Amino acid sequence: MEFSSIILYWYLKNQRDFPWRKSKSVYKVWLSEIILQQTQTSQGLSYYNKIINAFPTIKELAEDSEEKILKLWQGLGYYSRARNLHYTAKHIQNNLNGVFPNDYNNLIKLKGIGPYTAAAISSICFNEKRAAVDGNVYRILARVFNIYTPINSSTGIKTFQELANSLISETNPGDYNQGLMDIGATICRPKSPKCNLCPLKSICIAYDNNTINDLPVKIKKIKIKQRYFHYFCVEYDGEFLMKKRTQQDIWKNLYDFPIIEWTKANKENEIDYKEKLKSIIAVETVNIKKKKYYEHKLTHQKLNITIEYIKVDKIINHNNFIKVNRTQIEELPVPKPIERFFKELFNSLDCKV
Ligand code: SF4
Repeated sequence: MEFSSIILYWYLKNQRDFPWRKSKSVYKVWLSEIILQQTQTSQGLSYYNKIINAFPTIKELAEDSEEKILKLWQGLGYYSRARNLHYTAKHIQNNLNGVFPNDYNNLIKLKGIGPYTAAAISSICFNEKRAAVDGNVYRILARVFNIYTPINSSTGIKTFQELANSLISETNPGDYNQGLMDIGATICRPKSPKCNLCPLKSICIAYDNNTINDLPVKIKKIKIKQRYFHYFCVEYDGEFLMKKRTQQDIWKNLYDFPIIEWTKANKENEIDYKEKLKSIIAVETVNIKKKKYYEHKLTHQKLNITIEYIKVDKIINHNNFIKVNRTQIEELPVPKPIERFFKELFNSLDCKV
């Protein structure tokens, strides 16, 4: 049996049951593909359900605020996906009469849609013969064909895309792409692949050669940048000072506290944080009530975060910070460490009552 027939036959009997697979709604497939770009399906599914319940159609997504989608996205990370989702929904609604493009070449023009997502949507929803190549597919192809070219080198990207293009089903490219996704996620996993359950076992060279654990090859080039954030959670009269992050950086359009970012060149204990805070917001006295440390890992960054909780009696000027109460905080999109801090703070405050 040829490669694509093996995949299609397996998919027919073993496909995973996901809500976005129940119809070929391009809106639902798009939403699921964006969520699953950097996320495991086990985590992504609950976010998908939450978002589709809040916005059953693209029109509803387009007409609501970016803040609402960011709030629903909270905890999933890579927030540019949520911002792009909202931007693209508005673009389709306002400029394309609410109708999604129906081919790869036009899908890829949309913000947040790259080659993989455009190939997945066009093949699943419009039966276009486009091979969707992601980490799962690289891994399966590298193992089945015993290819040692690094998957993140320019030669590797070209080689694997060409191979994938040559293997794709002529008749049912959507199911074929989804079959590969499912085999990669459930059987040909990075560690401990379940070769005994694999439909490709009889043609897999790495299985025969016992080279599975060597493949795929990846060039290690990610250097993790260390960053040091010192936050002030300032409470005044039952309200907290927060501000939208607008700069081109992590967590854009999420809300955080007054912040001082310092580098390794500064020694933390040499910085007079109380004085620094006074330069951000005009307060007279600064009494630190609580101090917490968090580490937060992103793909290319490790954040070393200190949050100091301060209650002040008087604020002369809170500059551009907004004042939010506990109920309003529930509505604001905030980074994960701040969500965690608030949870811990409110728990401890409530225990004291
Ligand atoms: S036989 Fe094993 S290594 Fe080969 S494709 Fe299947 S799961 Fe992956």
